[in-house]
Amino acid sequence: MKTNEDVALIFDIQGFSVHDGPGGRTLIFFKGCPLHCTWCSNPEGECRNREVMFREDSCKQCYNCVEQCPQKAITVSSNGKITFDRASCQQCESLECVEYCYDSALGIAGKYYTQQELIRKIERDRRFWGSGGGITLGGGEVMSQYKFAARFLEQCHRNYIHTAIETSGYASWSHYEEVLKHTDWVFVDIKHMDDARHREGTGVSNTLILENIALMARQQDAFRLIPRVPVIPGFNDDEQNMQATARFLQHNGLTEVNLLPFHRLGSSKYTQLGRQYDFAQTASLTQQALQAMKAHFEAKAIRCYVGSDTPF
Ligand code: SF4
Ligand code: SF4
Repeated sequence: MKTNEDVALIFDIQGFSVHDGPGGRTLIFFKGCPLHCTWCSNPEGECRNREVMFREDSCKQCYNCVEQCPQKAITVSSNGKITFDRASCQQCESLECVEYCYDSALGIAGKYYTQQELIRKIERDRRFWGSGGGITLGGGEVMSQYKFAARFLEQCHRNYIHTAIETSGYASWSHYEEVLKHTDWVFVDIKHMDDARHREGTGVSNTLILENIALMARQQDAFRLIPRVPVIPGFNDDEQNMQATARFLQHNGLTEVNLLPFHRLGSSKYTQLGRQYDFAQTASLTQQALQAMKAHFEAKAIRCYVGSDTPF
């Protein structure tokens, strides 16, 4: 099924978040991302298509999936364990392998929703949002399905639902214009100020992102803009980069920033997707290091929130 203005591919919906906008929030994660951040904590959000995820420790070796797969992508190894050949898997529409796995060892990342289905789903959470709460669209990258997102956000506004997006900043400005018309809050990432380092870590240049943030900054009367820096040890946590980020924010009249400390919560999802996670052994940042980064921003009169320590 193709995504369009009426249908979106979503890989997760989480109720009751209190960290991604004001009040209580329902978070909706759109599948597909043009960046390939090496530390990504939602690897199942990168690919534009549905993907099979395999939890080996839940497998009871019933072999139902082996018999059902028309592509012979699943085989039994000599030790009795099953082997999943992702190159042969066609991510077929019927997903017989997942259907016949009664132990939930096989799951699917990605489910199609129409506008109506998604509205109906989030409306159930409305009573938990509280004053000022609502929905936050993220991913993957929400802008990878911007036509659906723009219409969905418009419907939310018609239903008096507060709207926010979390975005990489990497999309055409004309696409942002459509989405921002119906957005109350924008969280936008700044991953590295140096273009070469940005390409190394994410696979794309930072030029478009920084241009878009500068354009968004000029529209701060239309929505609240909060830049976010995912702080990745050894990639962007050095003093030089933090100071360059603070200068960029100051230059664009931005007075808030949210530092998001690295974590390894997505690690097991790499295993389930048959991928290697380069940050599996990377240690968390210390509070002392984070406070030192915060000081660089506050020296430039930029309010700096660390992690979930936000005023919203
Ligand atoms: S998604 Fe389809 S092709 Fe892929 S393993 Fe499952 S049944 Fe086989
Ligand atoms: S159907 Fe599920 S439990 Fe059975 S062999 Fe396949 S993955 Fe394992």
